[in-house]
Amino acid sequence: MFCVECGAEGPTYQGLCARDFLKKHPVVAHPEVLDIERCKSCGSFRLKSGWSKIDRELALAGLLRESIPKLAPWERVTFTHVAREEDANNLSVTVKALGRFEDLQSVQDFRVRVRIKPSICDSCQKQRGRYFEGVLQVRGDGRELTPQEMRGVRTFVIARVDRAADPAAFVSRIEEVHGGLDFYLSTNALGKALARELSESFGGSVSSSPKLFGQKEGREVYRVTSLVRLGAFHIGDVVRYKESLAEVMSVRPFVILRDLATGESRRFKPKDVRRAKRVEAERFEAKIERLESGQIVAVHPDSEEARPVRPVPKDRTARTVVVWTRDGAYLSLLPPETSKP
Ligand SMILES: [Zn+2]
Ligand SMILES: [Zn+2]
Repeated sequence: MFCVECGAEGPTYQGLCARDFLKKHPVVAHPEVLDIERCKSCGSFRLKSGWSKIDRELALAGLLRESIPKLAPWERVTFTHVAREEDANNLSVTVKALGRFEDLQSVQDFRVRVRIKPSICDSCQKQRGRYFEGVLQVRGDGRELTPQEMRGVRTFVIARVDRAADPAAFVSRIEEVHGGLDFYLSTNALGKALARELSESFGGSVSSSPKLFGQKEGREVYRVTSLVRLGAFHIGDVVRYKESLAEVMSVRPFVILRDLATGESRRFKPKDVRRAKRVEAERFEAKIERLESGQIVAVHPDSEEARPVRPVPKDRTARTVVVWTRDGAYLSLLPPETSKP
């Protein structure tokens, strides 16, 4: 075989020796300037595939790959680059394009100016417009949320959304309503996931109801309202269930009630003890005294009122934590103060 250009003998590529083939075929036709949009709110870059929260180096790699035309017959063309910042929005980028054809490789060096165009991405645009799709409602089961629950739930949701670092997942607004909280969220999926996670962390039930609210590009769009009902009581609450008075030792996955009179603990499914009623009670460390009659009493630290304590303490203790209700004093297994709202 010989080259049709120069007549050299040896292997040829489409009739040309390697030297003439490389001379005749540049790897790419590169432009002088490339533009890329960057969201001035979240820093995402816009590529052909859409907005993407990636760093500048990855964005440049994507930009070169998708906007520099590769020339036939080169195959599997790859780029490497080094960017130099002229100012915040102008880069001088030195690029190497490597092309492959049969057993040949060709490297083409060139320089391209990349202009970063400040813009606003779709998800920041929606957020600014107070856009929402999903609604998450958090309520108490037959009661209002306590101020701690309000704070806890708010913190939980905000931290979870921040941690996800997904520009498409955001909270549009939060409203305090009917003793509970409403979160307006960018997607239905986010609402559902948060509902599940909240019920796992705080103990409660989840339900959801989709509601058609319109059409988008020919398909039906639903707004899903997810509702979390937080359990009727908390660890440390004193409740009356059936005939017994009990302290709540655990709320999930099972409710554990410890009978205050007998000291026995029993485990229930949360829905089975929904009927249990909270009872006003204090829990504090009290002095234990033995009266001359032999009766063992607990002494209220403020009023100094003495009441028989049940069950009778086994060891001759001087102080212990008790639950103090309107009609009695009971030994507690929980630390003091946990039932205070
Ligand atoms: Zn030749
Ligand atoms: Zn953005």
